[in-house]
Amino acid sequence: MAEPRVVVYPGSFDPLTLGHEDIARRCLKFADSVTIAVAHHPTQHKDRLFSVVERVEMIEECFADEPRIEVAQFTGLLVDFCAGRKANIVVRGLRAVSDFEYEFQMALMNRALYPEMEMVFMAPAGKFTFLSASLVREVATLGGDVSRFVSPPVLRRLQERIGG
Ligand code: ADP
Repeated sequence: MAEPRVVVYPGSFDPLTLGHEDIARRCLKFADSVTIAVAHHPTQHKDRLFSVVERVEMIEECFADEPRIEVAQFTGLLVDFCAGRKANIVVRGLRAVSDFEYEFQMALMNRALYPEMEMVFMAPAGKFTFLSASLVREVATLGGDVSRFVSPPVLRRLQERIGG
């Protein structure tokens, strides 16, 4: 039998948006399972809204209906995390040309570090191309309504954290 096709979808997910969810669910069309890998960089506290534990919990709640999507946290190099799990497909979402240059550089660096790994770039549904976690954080912090951009478990935590 063929090896299961395991996809890793890494990011900071602070917090998970409907754009992230769209990409993760799309991956199930070609993957047997998707691991959402929440990056935990203890030195990078700047602009952080949720702890890594909170982010993992929220993502688990959002995908409670989908046993093929699991959530993990990682520190250090993504390639080490992937090698440890014998996962060699990494998915990243591309919203616009502005994402491309950084992603392309990262893809080639990751390949230099771990030649077995392939990066797959996916486009979200058009209605999510303008969405980013940082914008959701900013709008929510300023009192705006972000209920169209995140799932209910994320909205609830945002309301608890920010009030309103
Ligand atoms: P953000 O860029 O929103 O702060 P992350 O750093 O957590 O989010 O991003 C993780 C991955 O998800 C990246 O590949 C990023 O390009 C992708 N992504 C983020 N938002 C979207 C979206 N709205 N549509 C598609 N991909 C997205």
